[in-house]
Amino acid sequence: MTLIEVFQGILESIRLPLQSVIDSESRLHILYLFSSLGLAYFVYRRSRATESFWSYVFRKDVWLSRSAFVDYGMIFFNSFFKVFLIAPYFIFGFYLSYKLEVFLPEVFGYPSQGLSATTTIILYTIVLTVVGDFATYLVHYIMHFVPFFWEFHKVHHSATTLNPVTQYRIHPVELIINNVKGILVLGLVTGVFRYLSAHPIEEMTLIGANVLSFAFLFFGSNLRHSHIPLKYFDWLEYIFISPFQHQIHHSDNQKHFNRNLGSKLAIWDWMFGTLIRSKSVETVQFGIGEDEKERYDSLLKNLYMPFKNLLATAVGRLSRTPMAERSR
Ligand SMILES: [Zn+2]
Ligand SMILES: [Zn+2]
Repeated sequence: MTLIEVFQGILESIRLPLQSVIDSESRLHILYLFSSLGLAYFVYRRSRATESFWSYVFRKDVWLSRSAFVDYGMIFFNSFFKVFLIAPYFIFGFYLSYKLEVFLPEVFGYPSQGLSATTTIILYTIVLTVVGDFATYLVHYIMHFVPFFWEFHKVHHSATTLNPVTQYRIHPVELIINNVKGILVLGLVTGVFRYLSAHPIEEMTLIGANVLSFAFLFFGSNLRHSHIPLKYFDWLEYIFISPFQHQIHHSDNQKHFNRNLGSKLAIWDWMFGTLIRSKSVETVQFGIGEDEKERYDSLLKNLYMPFKNLLATAVGRLSRTPMAERSR
């Protein structure tokens, strides 16, 4: 890689987060920011808040907190990673779906009748959303229950105030894992549908916003990371994760740890016993507790802390192992 390419990569990584405001696939697209504002107004009117709507939404202690500045730093830092990841990411996805398209007829033969164009689009959208959402739940579950991965995921939970940018407060290691998960799901599902459908599936056009993800983004996905407690009807929270349910996921109260791991759908949490509905929770305080607060209060600390902790655990384990056992 030449110096010019590195320089172009850096410029691109600065442009990416800024562009997200006009990118329809991004949560931070202007339309979704406005729809979130509308929903926030609904919550504001029902609350007993005495201040103006403006100061209710744009609380200085939330948007200008030390924690928020870590989020803002992280979105730029991670864009730098994304720029260099994105090309191999797509190549691997195409390769995977192509391989599957060749492999499936060898095993099962060609389907006698391919799916029609309409059936393909509807089924593909639903399957991609449901399989993708389950994969996200599974990876999130592992992030919480396997100590090694928790060290990296802790960075997302170390936020003590939530704003829409907190969505992107993810350690680069987790970012890579999420990207691999995303491309695996996309490659597998696309490969299966290329096999089943009589019509070509152009990944590039279908990767984009579909009706389901549009609905998700429109109905307050930005409020998940905010101080605005938007709750759904109690019965609906068994099916979809409401913004307040994700806020409970960020709670520093031990009672709420490892709950509401779902992204769009709540059914996985319901099935695997990790669901909490808004009804049973009054208020939440975000973070991983007072003791840990200072250890994660800067961008740099959030970047190196997982490695430091893992090293300390490894050294601790080694020193606890008796000499005789270690030499065996
Ligand atoms: Zn989590
Ligand atoms: Zn979160």
